[in-house]
Amino acid sequence: YYNENTILYLDGAYLKASEANIDLYGQSLHYGYAVFEGIRAYKLADGTMKMFKAKEHFDRLKRSCELIHIPYNFDNEELIKATYKIIEDNGLTEAYIRPLVFCPPNMTLKGAHESRILICAWDWGAYLGDKQLRLMTSSYQRPNPKAFKIESKSAGLYVNSILASQEAKEKGFDEALLLDINGFVAEGPGANLFFEKEGTIYTPPPGNILPGITRATVIEICQELGIPLVEKLFTTDELKQADGAFFCGTAAEIVAIGSLDDQPFAKPFADTLGKVIQAAYKAKVFEKEFKREAQLA
Ligand code: PMP
Repeated sequence: YYNENTILYLDGAYLKASEANIDLYGQSLHYGYAVFEGIRAYKLADGTMKMFKAKEHFDRLKRSCELIHIPYNFDNEELIKATYKIIEDNGLTEAYIRPLVFCPPNMTLKGAHESRILICAWDWGAYLGDKQLRLMTSSYQRPNPKAFKIESKSAGLYVNSILASQEAKEKGFDEALLLDINGFVAEGPGANLFFEKEGTIYTPPPGNILPGITRATVIEICQELGIPLVEKLFTTDELKQADGAFFCGTAAEIVAIGSLDDQPFAKPFADTLGKVIQAAYKAKVFEKEFKREAQLA
């Protein structure tokens, strides 16, 4: 991810990674009381580098902080400029960007009065690869929304994601699928889920999930292409009857799911609407025109 010459942005300054100082006695490191974002920048046809939905990501960073009462005294326009600068200073042609808001020294369980910000960037390929995923229903549930602000992209929440992902890999699967506290399908450890049945796309409603920015983009694509989309709760039994399914997230982008608990979906991904949505998503991030007819031909 980095070496001693990597340039990062820390509290308004551009520093080498080796010069950055991070507090060891803080609530962020000890209790996971921090908030982060994951953003991708793509190289467009004209050679410029463009973050996809930068404003939406920095707005969510702010909202995530507000939800868990971490002060947010940053100007998002400044942060976006700073991010472009570190991408350039590190000579990256495409980048995954990770802003992190964390708290200064304080070992109590009282809220923070101040916060700090780190932004770093590195080159990161497709997070879940590009093969059809073998998914496993996790023995871990997503956290109870009454125990946590689950719509805040908070560091501490990701211990749940790590446990689920680790369990799936130990059992020989590619990734986990987590249910909510009521037993309905929620999401993956770092991605939202969609499935397709008889020409309609389904996805769980907000409430027990991180309502992803990629998820919102998929919904936008469905509206643009006239693909019927329904947000509703469903079980893994219903999901297993689907024609196809995919995960979506900034790091993962749009990735096909081949099977759940070793039960394959009815159609090959290439024959599903997921494939069309995947192509439309690629076109959007690269700011290219998308023609559905070309995909279906
Ligand atoms: N759910 C979880 C738990 C995630 O960590 C992510 C990745 N941020 C997503 C969904 C997808 O969110 P986005 O599309 O905003 O990256």
